Amino acid sequence: MYNVDQYFEPETIDEATALLAEHPNLLIIAGGTDVLIKMHSGKIAQADLLSIRKIKFLETIQKRQDGTLSIGSLATFTQIANDPIIKENIPVLKEAALSMGGPQIRNVATIGGNICNGATSADSASTLFALNAKLKLQTQGGERVIPIEDFYLGPGKVDLKPGEILTEIVISPEDYQDYGGHYIKFSMRKAMDIATLGVSAICRIKNGVFEDVRIGLGVAGPTPLRCQEAESFAKGKTVSAQTLAEIGKLAVKSTKARTSWRASKEYREHLVEELSQRALKVAIKNAGGESLA
Ligand SMILES: Cc1cc2nc3c(=O)[nH]c(=O)nc-3n(C[C@H](O)[C@H](O)[C@H](O)COP(=O)(O)OP(=O)(O)OC[C@H]3O[C@@H](n4cnc5c(N)ncnc54)[C@H](O)[C@@H]3O)c2cc1C
Repeated sequence: MYNVDQYFEPETIDEATALLAEHPNLLIIAGGTDVLIKMHSGKIAQADLLSIRKIKFLETIQKRQDGTLSIGSLATFTQIANDPIIKENIPVLKEAALSMGGPQIRNVATIGGNICNGATSADSASTLFALNAKLKLQTQGGERVIPIEDFYLGPGKVDLKPGEILTEIVISPEDYQDYGGHYIKFSMRKAMDIATLGVSAICRIKNGVFEDVRIGLGVAGPTPLRCQEAESFAKGKTVSAQTLAEIGKLAVKSTKARTSWRASKEYREHLVEELSQRALKVAIKNAGGESLA
């Protein structure tokens, strides 16, 4: 059932990266809510595991002096939903965290595992795309920091090089300060269901005009994505129902939706047009703008 030959539990990141360098076949396990399901079902027949659960500093969520937010890869969704720094600075990520799984899953599932499994449906991903998050990846030899958009290569495929561990998710002050946001997860059930579509919208408004709009989508293509055309159009436009309607239409242009047993391509495109407007309406209010009917 769980065919594990070797199991390592390092307590420091240096120890962990050294073990990965020495045993390149090791599979990282964080909360295990993906890895163990795959092992149980036989999708992963055998694995040697490197648990990172004991590397406590990876759980840290902090706001640095310059306003940069840092979320450790081992932070669980329960932790993110309750963290005062997240609630005060990027409440849209709290919304995404609370939409994920059920309480038991949120207690163990980590944000790092949510990103590294490469799923387009990952509930944190569209919000992290909208926030221009960057990922810090560490090896024995050093580290690199890349935009989250560059990390996703295809369905279930991420740019995690041999020996690398995702340690931190970093959000710069200019990417979240003075923004309001909102996340909508559309799924067939209210809880314990994978998104049919996930939409995260954030915006900054001045004198009734959009200074910036960013829309991240999940399950609208093989990877999470941003709605570049809609975002470019929105900049400098008056906040109005007409502007929102155009943003909704343009958002569909960035999608590469497909038909699956959950929903048809056409239905997903309809959801993108409608839900990007609904998410943005709430984001406008959260950014201090006037409510649109
Ligand atoms: C019942 C159930 C309901 C679920 N509902 C949802 C849902 O609503 N929304 C949703 O988005 N997901 C859902 N999931 C999927 C899963 O819980 C999440 O993707 C979760 O965030 C994975 O995190 P984890 O820590 O458990 O990852 P793990 O299973 O430990 O790891 C997942 C993958 O990431 C790699 N990995 C983990 N951490 C790191 C790291 N720091 N550096 C490098 N690689 C790493 C692992 O090697 C593995 O390939 C659900 C799962 C279950 C079982």
